[in-house]
Amino acid sequence: MTSQPSKLVEELNGVFARPQPPTYWATPEVLRVDRVSPRVRRVTLGGEGLTPFLAGYQPGDAVKFVLTETPSPEPNERWEPGLPSRAYTLINPDREAGTAQVDIIDHGDGPGSAWAGQAEPGWRVLVGGPRFGYTPDPAARAFRLFADLSALPAAIEIGRAIVDRPVSLAIEVPDAEEVRDLPAGVVDDVTWLIQDGGPGRQLVDHVHSLDWAANADVHVWVAGEAGTIGSIRRFLRVEQALPRAVVTVSGYWKLGEHGIDAARVALAAELARSSKYDGNQYDLDSFEPEVDGV
Ligand SMILES: Cc1cc2nc3c(=O)[nH]c(=O)nc-3n(C[C@H](O)[C@H](O)[C@H](O)COP(=O)(O)OP(=O)(O)OC[C@H]3O[C@@H](n4cnc5c(N)ncnc54)[C@H](O)[C@@H]3O)c2cc1C
Repeated sequence: MTSQPSKLVEELNGVFARPQPPTYWATPEVLRVDRVSPRVRRVTLGGEGLTPFLAGYQPGDAVKFVLTETPSPEPNERWEPGLPSRAYTLINPDREAGTAQVDIIDHGDGPGSAWAGQAEPGWRVLVGGPRFGYTPDPAARAFRLFADLSALPAAIEIGRAIVDRPVSLAIEVPDAEEVRDLPAGVVDDVTWLIQDGGPGRQLVDHVHSLDWAANADVHVWVAGEAGTIGSIRRFLRVEQALPRAVVTVSGYWKLGEHGIDAARVALAAELARSSKYDGNQYDLDSFEPEVDGV
């Protein structure tokens, strides 16, 4: 007899196995590298291959950078298992110019940080995607966005796309030097939180301090360190009993681990702990390409 899927199974499937858009591949060129803040480099990418990424652009869309073992001006020809790949959010898409940008944090370790630290105009990189775009629900009365520095680019793009309803943003940054002016009009109010007590601690405390009781039609988007995100998700969904459709969570990285997949697995574990787990296995790897070459 086949048992009915539990609510948790449905939820995990909702998070990890939502219908996927097609995966495109391109090897865009680095046009510029600018310093946005002490820890953030902005890389402008261009080239014909970006067109399909920009055509169906959704705010929050990220691409996977498939990197070489050590930073190199020449890109991989195609994705292969074992190559280091890291996700970055596309920002400021310009369809006419055929360009988009990524803000890459220099957090001192890892192939993504290393690549951004050395990349120069003329370098090319293999990218696949897009994934993770967020569609603001027309039924929402307002939006609350919560992010760390890695998710600030996505939060800004999402805020920019919501023009007809209030958007608030709380953002935790590693130190006060990362506090900066946001582009005009992207959010109605912003709360800057300075990291203290470990990554995500201030964000968690802030979420706990807000009034959730009268806000069932306020939609929530949360992204950042996986453990933090799992904790916030549990608070909102289990303790505050917010409906699933209202809360969108994404683990962007995992403290002490390398790459996106660790973050996704950690978030799945958090989700599993937060309710009765029926022991089923889930395909968490939906971001890996259906490989059909570059
Ligand atoms: C959908 C999505 C969109 C993303 N968008 C962006 C983006 O626009 N800009 C961006 O910078 N990142 C973004 N990230 C996060 C980024 O992919 C990860 O931070 C990635 O792990 C960085 O790779 P790395 O090679 O530099 O470090 P890794 O090899 O993954 O990690 C090395 C060490 O650094 C730590 N670490 C990793 N990331 C961070 C971090 N952000 N802060 C502090 N310590 C860290 C790890 O815990 C580990 O100890 C996104 C992730 C996802 C899933």
